[in-house]
Amino acid sequence: MALARLLEGKPVAEKIKLEIKSQAQKLKQQPVLASVLVGDNPGAASYVKSQAKTALELGIIYKLFQLDKDTTEQALIDFILKLNLDKTVNGIIVQMPLPQHIDCRKISESLAPFKDVEGLHPENTGKLFLSRSGFASCTASAVMELLNSTGVDLYGKEAVVVGHSEIAGKPLAFLLLDKFATVTVCHIGTSKAGKLEEHVRRAEVLIVAVGKAGLIKGDWVKEGAIVIDVGINRIGAKIIGDVEFEKAQKHAAYITPVPGGVGPLTVTMLMRNLVEAAKLQQ
Ligand code: NAP
Repeated sequence: MALARLLEGKPVAEKIKLEIKSQAQKLKQQPVLASVLVGDNPGAASYVKSQAKTALELGIIYKLFQLDKDTTEQALIDFILKLNLDKTVNGIIVQMPLPQHIDCRKISESLAPFKDVEGLHPENTGKLFLSRSGFASCTASAVMELLNSTGVDLYGKEAVVVGHSEIAGKPLAFLLLDKFATVTVCHIGTSKAGKLEEHVRRAEVLIVAVGKAGLIKGDWVKEGAIVIDVGINRIGAKIIGDVEFEKAQKHAAYITPVPGGVGPLTVTMLMRNLVEAAKLQQ
């Protein structure tokens, strides 16, 4: 039996980057992304590096603001409110994870919705619910671009999303509904009820965003399914996803590698939102 085709993020990202670059060049002023990093989390620092690199490539100014790890929640909110009013800044990203004493919901709510390029403010999540244009989560948009690159029509397809987080599973459920897929969202309750396997087995489109290596057994994957593995798990020096890749590859028609699938597209989606924000503001 033929192995699944690899759905790699990089070639899809390269095509979209050409469009972003051309849009950015048409703007009156170079677009500016403000990036706020609180503390010294190594994960967040590595995201910053890759965002700065992509911004440079696309003609976007990346302004990094590094705040002390002891910055209070109120001080961070005040800082964001200033960026909201700063006309030279088109978009704001607050790097996650934040130190534990800061409530990330309150931080998302303090962003001006028109500068919220990660699509976390309730106004933007609400627009997603209403199928109106706003900024959608970069992770969810990256998954939709990968699905789109297969050319497969999602209309009427059985789509199963595993994970119901605010940045991945929930926005994906709405974006898939907009394509008229029949959507099932699985979560911890599904697993605890022992029903995860039965849902996964009937998925024609399977998207997994949990963060548990090997949660999805390869032989649960339906013949000919499209499998998008969002999960990132560090096992020693290796990074793997949530799906048993080698086994799943024998059943699926398309599958994302981890790393190299969703990841390379997420930053591109952030820059696309930023240029869109700049266009709307200018
Ligand atoms: P999260 O906020 O921790 O959400 C994980 C979700 O999985 C939750 O909805 C959780 O449900 C559910 N879950 C936990 N255990 C489960 C189980 N045994 N069966 C079914 N569902 C279960 O994580 P996230 O931010 O969405 O990220 C998920 C994964 O994607 C992580 O590995 C993250 O590193 C990765 N990620 C990758 C990218 C990328 O660009 N490639 C971007 C973002 C995230 P409960 O909340 O009810 O427990």
